[in-house]
Amino acid sequence: MNQPIPYGRQHITDEDIAAVADVLRGPFLTQGPHIGAFESAFAKYIGCHYAVAVANGTAALHLCCMALGVTEGTRVITTPITFSASANCVRYCGGEVFFADVDPATALLDIHAVRALLEQHPKGYFSGIIPVDFAGYPVDMAAFRELADEYDLWLLEDSCHSPGGSFTDSQGVAHRCGDGSLADLAIFSFHPVKHIAAGEGGMITSNDEALYKHLLRLRTHGITNKPAEFTEPYPGEPERGGWYMELQELGYNYRLTDMQAALGNSQLTRVDAMLARRQEIARRYDDAFAGTAVDIIVPPTDVVHAYHLYVIQIDDRKGLYDFLRTRNIMAQVHYIPVHLMPYYQQFGWKPGDFPNAERYYARCLSLPMFPTLTDDEQAYVIESVKEFVGA
Ligand SMILES: *Cc1c(COP(=O)(O)O)cnc(C)c1O
Repeated sequence: MNQPIPYGRQHITDEDIAAVADVLRGPFLTQGPHIGAFESAFAKYIGCHYAVAVANGTAALHLCCMALGVTEGTRVITTPITFSASANCVRYCGGEVFFADVDPATALLDIHAVRALLEQHPKGYFSGIIPVDFAGYPVDMAAFRELADEYDLWLLEDSCHSPGGSFTDSQGVAHRCGDGSLADLAIFSFHPVKHIAAGEGGMITSNDEALYKHLLRLRTHGITNKPAEFTEPYPGEPERGGWYMELQELGYNYRLTDMQAALGNSQLTRVDAMLARRQEIARRYDDAFAGTAVDIIVPPTDVVHAYHLYVIQIDDRKGLYDFLRTRNIMAQVHYIPVHLMPYYQQFGWKPGDFPNAERYYARCLSLPMFPTLTDDEQAYVIESVKEFVGA
């Protein structure tokens, strides 16, 4: 293969380009009609009541932490196997990040480890949990909801990897990631390697009207222009006119542009086909690596895995990574455990704290996984991996 094969890549069609060009010819470059259209279409796709479009997934996490009341000293639990933004959002608000180990069978936050951590402290010590649908494997949010209710915690689902993914609860009911039925809030990213590319972009989903209204205000500086939300006029205040608005709290400018919303909305029309292709690629990898020295995670049939990543585990990970580079295959590592990042080690986290996460990190490698990966390219990736392991 002459062209390098990346681990992920966006797919932009002529329709996508036309949608963006239309915006550029129109009157609104930001906060125009495409924002609302994208929010409604995304909410419909996910199956939730409300969606708030924001500048990126990290901004989405930050605003969610603000809306959930994270402040100086608030303690929040998340997984070490995630992109660091899942933890950083707590720090932006001055909160304290706690980690619990992952389940080796899924690489997801282990609910038993979370329960053990909760039991070590009095009730009220922790405020919330941020589970992550890592790689696209949906967390069992019903089990986390039960645990959260027992300890009076909120749940913020980081669904950046899992739009379209779902799991089935013990009652046999399927829940799509971020559908608002279990987690208080969920967030998505439209970074180009994710399922929907908007350049940069993010979305918050929820069924909670109060949180929704608060997030709309936080997204745009903390300003409201809705008369129903205004404070009482002060004595002698000049009469309020159409210009009137109020800064009610300290928010941010985390808005999405109309160009990005139009691109995201255009991509959303193909999201089912793109997810189906990701799943097809995953099945082919699964079949190829079954019975070899390459370890894979295959979800049960009642779980719809969204396959943002296809991660294999292998003892000589560095060897395979380097070998694939010589073949122009740009595999990647997801993730270096967040608790081992120098920034987090300053809070006392250290090697050995989370053995499952650290063992996973030592052996994991993400193979190319994106809808436009061709059958030939995938065959070449499979053949190269098999040659390395001698299968
Ligand atoms: C990509 C990602 C984010 C951050 O999203 P951005 O849009 O890049 O800010 C957060 N969490 C996870 C798990 C991600 O993969």
